[in-house]
Amino acid sequence: MAAASDQIGLIMQLRRRGIRSTAVLRAMELVPREQFVDPAFVEQAYLDAALPIDCGQTISQPFIVAYMTQALEIEERHKVLEIGTGSGYQAAVLSHLARRVFTIERYRELQKTAEQRLAELGITNVTTIIGDGRLGWPPQAPFDRIIVTAASEEPPQALIDQLKAGGRMVAPIGPTRDSQMLVQIDKYEVGVEQRDLIPVRFVPLVKGRVKRR
Ligand code: SAH
Repeated sequence: MAAASDQIGLIMQLRRRGIRSTAVLRAMELVPREQFVDPAFVEQAYLDAALPIDCGQTISQPFIVAYMTQALEIEERHKVLEIGTGSGYQAAVLSHLARRVFTIERYRELQKTAEQRLAELGITNVTTIIGDGRLGWPPQAPFDRIIVTAASEEPPQALIDQLKAGGRMVAPIGPTRDSQMLVQIDKYEVGVEQRDLIPVRFVPLVKGRVKRR
């Protein structure tokens, strides 16, 4: 069992590492990460580390989840799109900050499990979608915020197109796992502005959804 004290320790560590937003820290506190990790890794749920999940993917490191969430500057009325549902942990954190969250995953298995976990936690403002996140989700566009949790060489144009003017996207960009930079893209009435945040390591954003086996 992961102890409540472990979670408090993690939150304090995030604060020490520079997560200043009390709203973000509170959202992180509201999500039991142990319910999003593989049972074999429950003891490590509140360590500040990425952990393996099914389908060869990973649940992101808590610091990165907090950092990306803070960079998004989410407001209560916002509609947020996440690409790469994975375990559903990041979506759960977002659910405590935004009005609606849409999250896209290419593995059906991961999408189903994430959906179940969110339901068990009583989270009702997250919609999980199976599909290719590189294409965004036109039926619900435009979005106030977009968070991409898998890395691509360039920011997908479809996602920039689905961002509102005044909106912001945060995404890991880079050709290889060892050379990714988290970038923030702000969209204006005319044009976009891109800036580098911190170096990161994400699994790749892969083209196409996974066919049923
Ligand atoms: N946000 C997740 C961690 C993401 S790991 C969490 O909180 O646990 C990255 C995820 O992106 C993986 O599950 C991977 O399957 C998914 N992914 C990769 N390419 C994708 C694509 N084109 N569309 C949707 N999901 C994708």
